[in-house]
Amino acid sequence: MAIKRITTEEAFTIPEIVEQTRKLVGGVPSMGTGAIVGPLVELLCDIGQGRIASMDNAGIDLQLLSLTAPGVQLYDAATALSLAKLANDRLKAAIDAYPTRFAGLAAVAPQDPTGSAKELERAVTRLGLKGAIINSHTHGEYLDNPKFWPIFEAVTALDVPIYLHPREPSPAMAAPLNLTGFTVGWGFAVEAGTHALRLIANGVFERFPKLRMVLGHLGEMLPFMLDRIDNRYRFETGLFPDKRMKRRPSEYFRDHFAVTTTGMNFPAPLRAAIAVLGVDNVLFGIDHPYEDQAEEVAKFEAMGFSEADKKKLYQTNSERVFKL
Ligand code: MN
Repeated sequence: MAIKRITTEEAFTIPEIVEQTRKLVGGVPSMGTGAIVGPLVELLCDIGQGRIASMDNAGIDLQLLSLTAPGVQLYDAATALSLAKLANDRLKAAIDAYPTRFAGLAAVAPQDPTGSAKELERAVTRLGLKGAIINSHTHGEYLDNPKFWPIFEAVTALDVPIYLHPREPSPAMAAPLNLTGFTVGWGFAVEAGTHALRLIANGVFERFPKLRMVLGHLGEMLPFMLDRIDNRYRFETGLFPDKRMKRRPSEYFRDHFAVTTTGMNFPAPLRAAIAVLGVDNVLFGIDHPYEDQAEEVAKFEAMGFSEADKKKLYQTNSERVFKL
């Protein structure tokens, strides 16, 4: 069976964004700034021949590219929107140069929801991008706040998904999660998983029944907690029946979210995610250049999935979710 290997959360940046972030933080890198110095910057800025060669070496057919975390979400609204547009234009140029090897998600500046809605329309209809990427909180605020909802109106009208990517925990959550060495492995998942749950809890999917979301890292822990969340949601809202949603929390999750395997190509959690969500709702991904492509492919191959399941996990699920 011919199978295309598609990866779904593959990071890039552009020199202007590296420079803007360096200026903003006085050149001091942190888990919150993303890569602004070091060898990753060069890999992130390569959306040409070098990246294609690394994909060939690992047997990757197509990368779905997105601007690396935290995107443009550190900046003021005007700077953020203009850099998002620039990143989207560069992404389009890279895809034009390698149309069978790259596809992309649009950068968004939640600081300007109306401007972002317009940019999303341009990015999808004119640039051919396949959805949006948003890196969790923006200046400590979450997308369940109705001020951001022009973005949901835009993606549902365009019928494309939002990839909700993690970043360092918001200021209100940061203190107890400040554990050097654990920011990504734990803090990112708490941040992004909580963000996704806020969308469910605060009625976003009631208001936007066509909204589709994608989470990396096997769903930021949520798939493993759904039974308990449902069970205790019923218990808690038994005390406040007027607050109870029409459906169980897990039903919104199952209907509106797909997950990718980025950074989580480990046998036990991967099998658990497939058991909970079904083999049609899990998409292969790597997180290049933060993870090694050849290693991740080797780990995935070693899990012994059937050819039919590999076809879905590597290829057709991603083609369906992102309309590739
Ligand atoms: Mn990532």
